[in-house]
Amino acid sequence: MVRSTVARIDLEALKWNFAAIQQHVASEPGRTPPRIICVVKANAYGHGSDRVALALEEAGADLLACADIEEAIVLRRAGVRAPILVFGALSISDLDGLFEYSLTPTVSTPSAARALQAAASRRETSLGYHLKIDTGMNRLGFRHDNLRRSLPELLGSTNLRLEAVYTHFATADEPGSQVFLDQSANFAKALAVVDELVKPAKSERTRPTGERSYLVHACNSAALLRDSRVWYDMVRPGLLLYGIVPPPLASTIDLKPVMSLTSRVVAVKGMRPGEGVGYGWRYRAQEPRTIAVIPAGYADGLDLRLSGKGHVLIRGRRVPIVGAVSMDMITVDVTDAGEVAPGDEVVIIGRQGDESWQQIDVREMAGAIGTIPWEIVCRVGSRIERYYD
Ligand SMILES: *Cc1c(COP(=O)(O)O)cnc(C)c1O
Repeated sequence: MVRSTVARIDLEALKWNFAAIQQHVASEPGRTPPRIICVVKANAYGHGSDRVALALEEAGADLLACADIEEAIVLRRAGVRAPILVFGALSISDLDGLFEYSLTPTVSTPSAARALQAAASRRETSLGYHLKIDTGMNRLGFRHDNLRRSLPELLGSTNLRLEAVYTHFATADEPGSQVFLDQSANFAKALAVVDELVKPAKSERTRPTGERSYLVHACNSAALLRDSRVWYDMVRPGLLLYGIVPPPLASTIDLKPVMSLTSRVVAVKGMRPGEGVGYGWRYRAQEPRTIAVIPAGYADGLDLRLSGKGHVLIRGRRVPIVGAVSMDMITVDVTDAGEVAPGDEVVIIGRQGDESWQQIDVREMAGAIGTIPWEIVCRVGSRIERYYD
């Protein structure tokens, strides 16, 4: 049995996007191109993290990143062998998974550092980690202006190896943002302090000056697009991999959308003047109208705000979503769409024809209802079957 509402995940498009981003960051002459950390947190932004991670690994991803240990374990169980970075805060009970599944934690607080060192020492092993510096986001990370005091204990942990230092930008998607520039400057200063505090191991004394023993990364999708000065050694795109450019930015990278969402009309109804449709009669007919019922609702992740604002494609036409979004259904006005019949294909996200208006992309849908594209894809419900091709 297959429900009519399905998500198609185009893994070739995903790999294409990975290669396109790789090419983009290799475009600056005279520098080693940064490597790509593929962000597959939150079930790969709703696309299905196991299949997405395996496809990216096949495409040559050096490193994947998840929000927490549990997400990373899902990837290991699916057979992912690439290194996996865990972004989130480590709660003490979680730590076993890091060792058992060979994960790379982010250390973002002194107490997490102590707990990790103790756990690694108990196991008589050593663990590589990425250090997170808070340069202004005021969320996770060691404060950038307090490192001389907060870092020496961590850097002296005998069972922990510093593999990378990173930060995260709060306003990379706001053109002209001063906060972004301030964070960049804070990060550069913080790196100088880390350089000072990291004493080269004996075997590394011959390292040329200016070469670090650890890697540096800072860029999410938006930062990657806007400023090559902060590309450093690695970049961390999420949204771009899925073929979506963070609004309001534009990009010359040739990206392809990865997810499409389709359904089928299950019923067609005539409405008489004065009648309404759905809960609350949010839409009322002034004249005879034809309504099509589509079996996908807010339980499938369709936002309530799409009522009166969103569109779908049927028979190559854009038709408006009218009336309240229900748990399991939406209703659309197909009066002007010709002979619509049960069984007709409905495109909720994706393309139905070659004209520019025959496409509804995630960014458009997000814009129509005043949210962000990240939320739209993450919310595509678990009831919706994902098909991979
Ligand atoms: C989610 C996340 C990213 C990716 O963000 P996009 O805007 O989707 O590119 C990068 N870095 C960190 C730390 C994140 O949490």
